[in-house]
Amino acid sequence: MPTFVRTDKCDGCKGADKTACMYICPHDLMKLDMDGSETGHPMKSFNQEPEQCWECYSCVKICPQQAIEARHYADVVPLGGSVQPIRGTDSIIWSIKFRNGTQKRFKFPIRTTPEGSIDPYGGKPEADMAKIKDVGFFVQHNGYRAGDPSELIRK
Ligand code: SF4
Ligand code: SF4
Repeated sequence: MPTFVRTDKCDGCKGADKTACMYICPHDLMKLDMDGSETGHPMKSFNQEPEQCWECYSCVKICPQQAIEARHYADVVPLGGSVQPIRGTDSIIWSIKFRNGTQKRFKFPIRTTPEGSIDPYGGKPEADMAKIKDVGFFVQHNGYRAGDPSELIRK
């Protein structure tokens, strides 16, 4: 189910050229309505194509104002309830609001290493960009190796 913006909380990322939700959305769905001509809410963002939303929660997690919520499936979050994350640098807090007003918070660690310390290409050979147009560039030149069944995690 798609996300929606709480206009009472959104501050348009203080007029930045590209808001946090626009920056993070992998499907380019979030848009800032600068003059209010599209939504009636100037300087507030909105999900411009809700039916295309992946429900990936990226915008919900990155919004510094906790202004974005997802419409959940009724069997997970009944009408009137909400699920709101607050991200820190080493943990995330999920605030669950039940429709009877009860609130619960759950805090989970999200990393075990210092922020920014991960080398995503660590141990991989550097790609030879001169070969980028070669057929099979990714699988032959980019550090790909065939899967090894013995490395599968089995329970
Ligand atoms: S990230 Fe949040 S505060 Fe910033 S424009 Fe989007 S909804 Fe508004
Ligand atoms: S939930 Fe994901 S796909 Fe949907 S608007 Fe937010 S960032 Fe984009």
